[in-house]
Amino acid sequence: MSRTFVIKGARILGEEPADLLLRDGVIAEVGSGLDAAGAEVVDADGLIALPGLVDLHTHLREPGREDAETVETGTRAAARGGYTAVHAMANTHPVADTAGVVEQVWRLGREAGFCDVHPVGAVTQGIAGRQLAELGAMADSAAQVRVFSDDGHCVSDAMIMRRALEYVKAFDGVIAQHAQEPRLTEGAQMNEGEVSARLGLPGWPAVAEEAIIARDCLLAAHVGSRLHVCHVSTAGSVEILRWAKSKGWRVTAEVTPHHLLLDDTLVEGYDPIYKVNPPLRTAEDVTALREALADGTIDAVATDHAPHPVEAKETEWDCAAMGMIGLETALPVVQQAMVETGLLDWVGVADRMSFRPARIGRLSGQGRPLEAGSPANVVLYDPAPRTVVDPSGFASKSRNSPFAGLELPGRVVATFLRGRPTVLEGKLQ
Ligand SMILES: [Zn+2]
Repeated sequence: MSRTFVIKGARILGEEPADLLLRDGVIAEVGSGLDAAGAEVVDADGLIALPGLVDLHTHLREPGREDAETVETGTRAAARGGYTAVHAMANTHPVADTAGVVEQVWRLGREAGFCDVHPVGAVTQGIAGRQLAELGAMADSAAQVRVFSDDGHCVSDAMIMRRALEYVKAFDGVIAQHAQEPRLTEGAQMNEGEVSARLGLPGWPAVAEEAIIARDCLLAAHVGSRLHVCHVSTAGSVEILRWAKSKGWRVTAEVTPHHLLLDDTLVEGYDPIYKVNPPLRTAEDVTALREALADGTIDAVATDHAPHPVEAKETEWDCAAMGMIGLETALPVVQQAMVETGLLDWVGVADRMSFRPARIGRLSGQGRPLEAGSPANVVLYDPAPRTVVDPSGFASKSRNSPFAGLELPGRVVATFLRGRPTVLEGKLQ
């Protein structure tokens, strides 16, 4: 028998306190003085209730790199971060470019049960950029793939990108582009600018991202399809997106928590924990990204959770793997960068971390308002405590967090997936 919960006095989307009754997987009632026979009571005094978070960009590493993460450990990390759905990127081994592999990942997510796992399908076979993968077969599979990406690699061939955009129209899919012009970033190690010049590290110019985004916006408009831009990192990219949206084109974009908080001066210590693709940019870029997320030019926060084993990160800068984990710190980082700066309220956070990403991924059962009849996907979040980030307590199998040692606000107290707690009193269930 499924458990019934009464959440007492949660501030719904940061507004007035109310009670929520979770029964049979849905929010049965929202109001005051709620009660139900046999219900477990959760005291949510001082806590904020948000819809379960939805991540458009997670690397779960399974199949193939289970030393870094598995579907189970990654989704445990997701639940601890307040997520009820994640999109699992396709750059696994083997690559998720067939119905068989996406169904395998989807099934592993169901078995683990910590949050919904929606596999992202590769755009091209083996993410090699040469031939389209079986997009239709992945869309028709049990995993019902709607988001396709070669993430980690850019679909740099304009003709392949055009054909992919055309193809996914048939099932309302979207191409999520990792915008990185390959020739302009050969051997690149960090953002190209003052800091790279001083350190003598090969630079990664903003134009390498911006040129692809501009091209893809034009292509999406030309064929009337949907484009999603992964991990936008520069002020120039924001300008291009603003222009494309002003035209009414079907373009959406995401930004990572780390690009909202960190900048390229951190690279000065040569600590590979700060090595990431796209690279940390300048403080001016960070400001532009925050403003774009606030005004909706950037639609969503997506973690780009990229676990790596210790030996891949604790090495020299040049040889270190690119990527950072982020599922268990995303909400605190967004509170610090966006809420405490007055750029977003909690309604805005719910929009950018749940409502909009669910819409972009075409997830019907996620990103629903906290009202009677919605699936009971709920996070209870305490914005008050400030704690120093200690990755040794993370549920993720990897420890490569750039926020380690940093004091951040907030704590996920509970996460409910269709009425079932995956986290309660801060602990995995
Ligand atoms: Zn990427």
